[in-house]
Amino acid sequence: MTAGFDIAVIGGGVIGLSLARELAREGARVGVIDAGTEIPPATRAAAGMLAPSFEIAHGESVQGPDNRIGEALYAFSAASLELWPGFAAALQEESGVAIDLRHDGILGVALDEERAGALGRDAAFLRARGAAVEIIDGDEARRLEPGLSPDIVSALHAPRDGQVDPRRLLSALRLSVERVAGAVIPARVVGCVAAGAGFVARLADGGRVEAARLVLAGGASRLPMVAGVPAPPVRPVKGEAIALATPAGASPDAPGLRRVVRAPGAYLCPKSDGRLVIGATEIEGRADLTVDKAAAAALRAAGARAAPGVAGLPLVERWAGLRPGTPDAAPILGAPRQGPGGLYFALGHYRNGVLLAPASARALADDMLGRDGPFDVAPFHPARFA
Ligand SMILES: Cc1cc2nc3c(=O)[nH]c(=O)nc-3n(C[C@H](O)[C@H](O)[C@H](O)COP(=O)(O)OP(=O)(O)OC[C@H]3O[C@@H](n4cnc5c(N)ncnc54)[C@H](O)[C@@H]3O)c2cc1C
Repeated sequence: MTAGFDIAVIGGGVIGLSLARELAREGARVGVIDAGTEIPPATRAAAGMLAPSFEIAHGESVQGPDNRIGEALYAFSAASLELWPGFAAALQEESGVAIDLRHDGILGVALDEERAGALGRDAAFLRARGAAVEIIDGDEARRLEPGLSPDIVSALHAPRDGQVDPRRLLSALRLSVERVAGAVIPARVVGCVAAGAGFVARLADGGRVEAARLVLAGGASRLPMVAGVPAPPVRPVKGEAIALATPAGASPDAPGLRRVVRAPGAYLCPKSDGRLVIGATEIEGRADLTVDKAAAAALRAAGARAAPGVAGLPLVERWAGLRPGTPDAAPILGAPRQGPGGLYFALGHYRNGVLLAPASARALADDMLGRDGPFDVAPFHPARFA
C-alpha cells in the first residue's frame, strides 16, 4: 500500500502527535507512522508531571555560569507550562477524552538541612526568573498534605506546576489527529529515502508512505536515517516506575496526597483514578523494559520516607520506559543542516516531553510553516551537535 501526505511524522508519542495535530490544524495533510506496542512509547511510561520548577532548575547544572542551553530550556519549559490549559481544553474538545490536567502545585520536600539548603537555592534561582515559588516549613507542608512525614523540615512549593495523565493524553492526541486532518498508520519504518521533491518511508509490512516533508519523532529508538544525514545524538535512558492503589475515601493509613510530592529518591503522583504513581529510576546504557524488583522496592521505600502511608499500599503495576536523552538534556528541534531540505527532527525531549509538548509542537510547526511565533528554537537546533 502507498499513502501520500504533505507531511509524514515518524513516531506517535506525545511529541510526534502534538506536532502532527498542530500542523493538521493549519490544513496540512499529515500522516503519523507509529510502531505501537512493537516499540512502546516513553510517553506511556511517563508520570505526567508538568514540573519546570523541579525538572529544570534541579539536576542538570542549569544554575552554573554561562549555561545558555539550560537558561533557554528553563524559559521554554516555563512557557510550555503556560500553554497547557489552552492545549488541554482544545484537545479535550476535539477528542472527547478527559486528560486529567491539574495545576494543583508540586511540593519538593526536604528531610534534612542539606536538602533544605538545595531547595532554598532552587527557589532563589526560580524567583529570579519570575516563578511564583515559595519555601515553606514542615508544618505548613503537612497542612497542605497531611500524609507527609513529621521528619520533613521544609519544602519548595511551586503552586503552578501540575500534572496530566499521559496515557489519556496519548489517546486524546491520536483521536484529535485523526479527526482534524491526519491519519495514524500503525507500522514500523525500516527505511527513509529522499525521492524527487519529497521522501519515501518504507514500512516493515512492505507498504510505503510518501510525503513532501518528513519529521523524525521516534523518541529514544534509533530511526533509519536518510542518506547523508548524520544521526542525532539521542540515547535511551531507562526509567522504571510503579503504581500503588490508594484506598477510596479518607483513611488514617492512606497517604491521601492531593498534589505531586518530590522527595529524595522518588516522586509521588496521585492520579484521579486512585493510582499513586511513584518514579523513577534513571539508568544509562540499558534499552530493555524489564523492571528490577529491588528498584521497585527502593522507589516505594523512598516514597514512604516522605509519606509513611505509602509503605502498606498494594502494588498494582510496575513498568519501564526509555527516555530520549541528549548530551545537554535539551531537545533537538528543527531541520538538520546536512541532507535534503524538508527533513526535520523533533527528538530528545528526555525527562520532560510531556511538559514540553505544547511548546515544542508550536515552535516546530511555526518553523515548518514559516510563521512568526513566540518561541526562539535556535538554541535547540540540531546544528549545535555538528
Ligand atoms: C519513567 C518515566 C517517567 C517520565 N515522567 C515524565 C514526566 O513526569 N513528565 C514529563 O514531561 N516527561 C516525563 N518522562 C519523559 C517523557 O516520557 C518523554 O520525554 C516523552 O514521552 C518523549 O516523547 P516522544 O514522542 O519523543 O517519544 P515516545 O513517547 O517514545 O514516542 C516515540 C514513538 O515512536 C515510535 N517509533 C520509534 N521507532 C519507530 C519506527 N522505526 N517506526 C515507526 N514508529 C517508531 C514508537 O513506537 C513510539 O510510539 C518520563 C519518562 C519515563 C521513562
